[in-house]
Parts: sequence; structure tokens; C-alpha cells
Amino acid sequence: MKTDRELLPIDQKTEGWTWHLGGRKWHYYRNKRALCGGVLMLIHPSEGYEQGNDSSPENCTACKRKKAAEVYAAAAIGEQA
Ligand SMILES: [Zn+2]
Repeated sequence: MKTDRELLPIDQKTEGWTWHLGGRKWHYYRNKRALCGGVLMLIHPSEGYEQGNDSSPENCTACKRKKAAEVYAAAAIGEQA
């Protein structure tokens, strides 16, 4: 059985890592909100978000942990199929 995440491929215009002025870390955004729960992104970066590079030391630790947990969960679902 497929999950919604597998049915909907990541759209790099609306989801991925980005950095913004005034922020020191990269956050992982989805639907304009960082995974760590904070900072709303009102305008999507024109060049799109960055995909991959999930373990960069520049990334927000909370976002990184949430993303890693999702990847782990997706892999576990894949193994069961
Ligand atoms: Zn974050």
C-alpha cells in the first residue's frame, strides 16, 4: 500500500531546504512552514528549494531530526511492502 508521500513526489518549488536573511541555519520548509514548527516562509525562493544535503552542518537541528525521522519511516514502510 502506498502512502500519500509516495504518491506525491516532492515539489522543489514548495518544499526543501532554504536559508533566509537574518537566519543562521537552513530550515526544511513544507507548505511555507519549517518542519521545526517555527518561521513562516511568505515568499518561496525564486530558484526553488534545495533538495538533498540533509545532513549538512548548516541545517537546523530540529528540521534535520524531523526529516531524518520521515526518511526512516518511509524506508520502514518500503521494507514492509
Ligand atoms: Zn528548522
